[in-house]
Amino acid sequence: MEKFFDVCIVGGGASGLAAAVYIKQKKPSVSVAVLERLPRVGKKLITTGNGRCNLTNSDESITHFHGDNPYFAEYAILKYNNKELERFFKSIGLPLYYDETGRAYPASLQASSVVDALRFSCDMLGVDTFVDCMVTDIIFGQSWSALKTELGDFSAKSVVFATGLYSGGKKLGCDGYIYKLLKSKGEKCIPVTPAIVQVKTDTDIVRALKGIKVNAAASLYISSKLVKRATGEVLFCDYGLSGPPILQIAREVERKDTEKTISLDLMPESNIDEVVTLLLSLRDVLYYRKLDEYLSGAINKRLGQSIIKSAGLKLSDSVNCLQESDIRQIAKVIKSFNFRAVSTTGFENSQVTAGGLDTCGFDNRTMMSKKYKGVYAVGELLDIDGDCGGYNLHFAFSSAFCAAESILEGIENGKD
Ligand SMILES: Cc1cc2nc3c(=O)[nH]c(=O)nc-3n(C[C@H](O)[C@H](O)[C@H](O)COP(=O)(O)OP(=O)(O)OC[C@H]3O[C@@H](n4cnc5c(N)ncnc54)[C@H](O)[C@@H]3O)c2cc1C
Repeated sequence: MEKFFDVCIVGGGASGLAAAVYIKQKKPSVSVAVLERLPRVGKKLITTGNGRCNLTNSDESITHFHGDNPYFAEYAILKYNNKELERFFKSIGLPLYYDETGRAYPASLQASSVVDALRFSCDMLGVDTFVDCMVTDIIFGQSWSALKTELGDFSAKSVVFATGLYSGGKKLGCDGYIYKLLKSKGEKCIPVTPAIVQVKTDTDIVRALKGIKVNAAASLYISSKLVKRATGEVLFCDYGLSGPPILQIAREVERKDTEKTISLDLMPESNIDEVVTLLLSLRDVLYYRKLDEYLSGAINKRLGQSIIKSAGLKLSDSVNCLQESDIRQIAKVIKSFNFRAVSTTGFENSQVTAGGLDTCGFDNRTMMSKKYKGVYAVGELLDIDGDCGGYNLHFAFSSAFCAAESILEGIENGKD
C-alpha cells in the first residue's frame, strides 16, 4: 500500500538525518519519512574523522569549498555557520569541542555519539525511518512526487535527495544510483572523481620507502603549475603516497589529463641555501663515512639513501669526496623530491566526491531544483566538496537546513 508523507528524505546519512530533525523540531505536525537503503542509518558518519567526526570548523572561508561554482555554498555555510551548527547539536544533546586548529568534534570525541544524537532525536520527534529501503525510481508530479522503493511506493509533497555520491563506496551505501537516476531525469551533472584520497604514483622509489612517515610540504603541480600545497605527515606506501597533506592536495589528480607531479619538500622550514649549509657542515663532520650513512642523522635513513641515489650519487662513495655541486644536487632533491601522480586509490578510499549535480540547476538559498518544484538535493550529491577539516559535513548539514527551512516556509505559506 502506498504511504503518504509531507516530506520524504531519501538517504539517512549526515544531511538526511539533520534535515529530518530540523523540520520536526520546528514543526512537529509535519509528517517526515527517512528512506535509507542500508540496514541502519548513519553508517558513513560513524567512520568520519577517524571515528571522532570532525563536523565543522571555526574557519568558514569559502576558499575551503570547491566545485564548478564554489560560491553556491556560501549562503548555506554562512547562514548555518559553525555557531549555528553548535546550537543545533546542543539542542540534541551534543556539545562540541574545538581543537587548537579550529576543527570541531562532538565533546565525546566519538562519531557514534553524533549518529546516536541524530537517530534518537528522529525517534523522539516522530520521524518515520525506513531502513533496507532503497529508492529505485521517482516520478515527479505537479504537487506530489512518487517514489518507488524496495519497501513499496511512497508519495510526498516534498522530496529531499540526501544520498551522497560515491565516496566510501557501496558498503557505505554510496554507488551514485540517485545521481544517475536524476541525470536520466534531466538534471545536469558535473563529472565525478575521488577527492580527499591517497595518490598512486610511479612506484619504483615509493615501494622501497613503504612505511616511512616524514614531515613534508607536499605540492601538486599540473603541467608544471603549482595547484595546491599542504604541510604535514606524509606516508610512503607500496602504491604511492598517503597522509593528511596528500589527501588535501589530491582533488585535481583525476580531474586533469595532463602531466601531474607531487613534489615533497622534506625540509620545508629551510630554504635551499640553508639546506646546502647544513649538508656542508655534515660533510665536515662525517668525512669518514660512506654516502649511505651521510644523511642518517638528518633524515630517515632509508629515505636519505634514496635521496642520494636520486641525486645521481653512489651509496658506496665516501662523504669526503662530495663536491659542492654534489651537495647542491642533494639539497635540490631534498627540497623537491618528485613523483609522477598517476591516479588515486579510488572512490572506495575517498572521503568525498568532487563533481555531482550541477549547482546551476538548484537555488542556492533553498537547494530546490529549478526543474522540479518541491524536489531538493543536499550534501555531497551536489557539485560542492570541501577540504579536510570538517568542511564536507558542514556543507551536508547547512545545505540540509536550507532545504528544511524552505520546506517549512512552503508549508507555512500553503504553497506546497
Ligand atoms: C572515511 C570517511 C571519513 C570522513 N571524515 C570526515 C570528517 O571528519 N569531516 C567531514 O566534514 N567529512 C568527512 N567525510 C565526508 C562526509 O562523511 C560526507 O561528506 C558526508 O557524509 C556527506 O553527507 P551526505 O548526507 O551528503 O551523504 P552520506 O552521509 O553519504 O549519506 C547518504 C545516505 O544515503 C543512503 N542512500 C544512498 N542511495 C540511496 C537510495 N537510492 N535509497 C535510499 N538511501 C540511499 C546511503 O546509504 C547513505 O546512508 C568522511 C568520509 C569518509 C568516507
